[in-house]
Amino acid sequence: MTLFRATVLDTPDSPFTGGVLRSEEDCAIVVDDGVIVARGPYAEVRTAHPGEEVLDLREGMILPGLVDTHVHFPQVRVIGGLGMPLLDWLDQCALPEEMRLADVEAARGIAKDFVTGLVDAGTTTALVFGSHFAGAVDVMFETADQWGLRVTTGLVTSDRILPEPLLTTPARAYAESAELAARWHGKDRLRYAVTPRFSLSASEAILESCGATFRDVEGSFFTSHVNENDAEIAEVARLFGGSSYVDTYAVHGLLNRRSVLAHNVHPTDAELATLAGLDASVAHCPTSNSALGSGLFPLRRHVEAGVRVAMGSDVGAGTGFSLLKEGLQAYFMQRLLGGEGLPLTSAHLLWLCTAAGADALALADTVGDLSVGKQFDAVWLLPEAGNPLAVGLGNARSADDALSKVFALGTTSDIGGVWVGGDQIAAGRWHRPRRA
Ligand SMILES: [Zn+2]
Repeated sequence: MTLFRATVLDTPDSPFTGGVLRSEEDCAIVVDDGVIVARGPYAEVRTAHPGEEVLDLREGMILPGLVDTHVHFPQVRVIGGLGMPLLDWLDQCALPEEMRLADVEAARGIAKDFVTGLVDAGTTTALVFGSHFAGAVDVMFETADQWGLRVTTGLVTSDRILPEPLLTTPARAYAESAELAARWHGKDRLRYAVTPRFSLSASEAILESCGATFRDVEGSFFTSHVNENDAEIAEVARLFGGSSYVDTYAVHGLLNRRSVLAHNVHPTDAELATLAGLDASVAHCPTSNSALGSGLFPLRRHVEAGVRVAMGSDVGAGTGFSLLKEGLQAYFMQRLLGGEGLPLTSAHLLWLCTAAGADALALADTVGDLSVGKQFDAVWLLPEAGNPLAVGLGNARSADDALSKVFALGTTSDIGGVWVGGDQIAAGRWHRPRRA
């Protein structure tokens, strides 16, 4: 057992329904075999656990591990391609890079860059948009397993519009998905996600094959894109005989409690009602929406419709792996929406970047906050003395104010340690795979 001694901030209850930031100074968290078995004021907990090793992390603060619900593994090397709307960016930046993953050795290097990016940013759980190539997805699972990250991912499928090397057939997609799921789904911290790229590049036949995989792989997830860009939405409506974008997935049984759709910047009220009725979740990706000029996310309409929302970095259209940056950009977007926006506090931002993601990924019993019974997935924020975040934290008026400064000023270089299930996988810039 290990006793962690630190200032701990988390959000066990949603601030959208009355929850508040939980902040404890000089808090003790006792971890046994990855699970938090005791928590409380240090003096009390220490008396009850006098013999345990103490890790003193009182400088800085501990947050729950961050949860990224939409991030593309093949795009790590094309982050930062600015100046294009969605469809041009796909043609010029993303798709040429994604074709390189046909080569498994290239995919291995990209997977390493990708996992390093996640860990560096304090992301401990992710719903990862995979590759169109089964060999590359296999490498992604293997790399995530080696590092001990909680990753849900799968084969990306498409059968039209994209460059030919990225296309497959419904039968081949089903067979390759079944093989990958048999090897990885449910292994330790890994799960399979059925992943058509988007309805724009998926015929009814391949969406039907995705529906079959989703039914046949018990406990698998579904993820894709929806309602990101006006030109994309119009083309999907044309291809599907005027159907709503959400319905293109719903009619194939792809939307339920284990479904996460990225973006949804331009939903109709009927689509929001469908998502709420089917209990599906939305991944909000604010730096991506901003960089591509996709639009301002209608968070208030999602919340009022009862649609679960969590955060995604959407690397590589998003501008980096940091969910702190995504949280800040989400805050900016709601401000820019004026009266239609939903004012967000720092507690909302922490919830969106941690517990909301755990909830969207049906992992709320396991991670998302640092309560007794949860896995110890945690990020240690340790800004260098004298840097603006350290100065800000030293002068914060309250825990909520300190957390605002974390979102305003925090970067990946302020992360001093990362744990998943009690295993330390990164210490500052130094990373170690869970299994050598
Ligand atoms: Zn995406």
